[in-house]
Amino acid sequence: MDFDHDVVVIGGGIAGITAAQFSARENLNTLVLEELANGGQALLVNDLENYPGFSEPISGIDFAMRLEKQARSFGVQFKSATATKLEKNDTGFIISAGKKTITARGVLLATGSTHKTLGIPGESEYEGKGVSYCGTCDGPFFKNRKILVIGGGDNACEEAEFLSKLTDKLTLIHRGSDFRAQKALSARVKSNPRVSVLLSTICREIRGTDRVRSVVLENAVSGDKTEAQFDGVFIFIGSTPRTELVPDLKKDDYGYLITDETLATEVPGLYAAGDVRSMSFRSLVSGAADGALAAHNLARYLYKEN
Ligand code: NAP
Repeated sequence: MDFDHDVVVIGGGIAGITAAQFSARENLNTLVLEELANGGQALLVNDLENYPGFSEPISGIDFAMRLEKQARSFGVQFKSATATKLEKNDTGFIISAGKKTITARGVLLATGSTHKTLGIPGESEYEGKGVSYCGTCDGPFFKNRKILVIGGGDNACEEAEFLSKLTDKLTLIHRGSDFRAQKALSARVKSNPRVSVLLSTICREIRGTDRVRSVVLENAVSGDKTEAQFDGVFIFIGSTPRTELVPDLKKDDYGYLITDETLATEVPGLYAAGDVRSMSFRSLVSGAADGALAAHNLARYLYKEN
């Protein structure tokens, strides 16, 4: 059978684009399918300062553009489309994308994950009217306004840092008694004079009229509730892996794909990399490393098959 591509990478974030670059450098005809903009979560990073080799911070958008440019320079092709179905037959894979089907000898899943929601009253009602999941996208609408940031991981701390450049009326709350984020990030946010940190604090409700006006906060220790005025509520409480193309594959307790140490799934020729995969540490650096490793091993698999 003639295939459209040797390798189709589904997902154009850091893991997918790095995988595609490594795959193309193995002389494999490689396509990246991405439904939104190439770059994935890197696009949401304001100042990327922990990627090795960049001694000065770089914006996530610039970084994503460099990734794509570099991959294209090695022959990677990009297609803007949503993959809706992934099937395997005796020889390879068939991917449905829009009205088209694309065939490939091997597939690398790098579909990432999407943000989690709190599921509290007012959250969905006021999304886009004060409730946001992206600081760099929506922060500028809240210049000098009262902002509440919710979450205790790396994202919440990074986004709080970014948003604090826009206002000094920023409060960061976390339900736990200390942050889960990397110590350097949480220490920086704790010592930022423009940020008030409230630990052991839970947001129970978001209230408003035509837009967000206030929130109901609960002290996790005493159970006391207070209403506090805010104009914007930014929620960063983690993410859910995008595994809808592979509902039957093995997953961990949180729904992330389980691979072996070569990043192969249990389907021969199907590899996974990045945030969609079960792993202990998530970052742009580990996403890139994952993509490179998966592509390397998929290439070995394809050469053996030939
Ligand atoms: P995360 O590390 O999973 O942290 C999620 C945070 O939200 C936790 O503190 C959690 O609280 C809290 N949370 C979860 N559900 C909640 C709920 N219903 N109500 C209130 N709080 C809730 O997620 P993340 O910060 O989005 O980061 C995702 C991944 O990207 C991480 O692996 C992170 O390391 C990586 N990342 C890396 C960088 C970087 O390297 N510079 C930057 C951004 C993100 P508990 O702690 O109580 O569970």
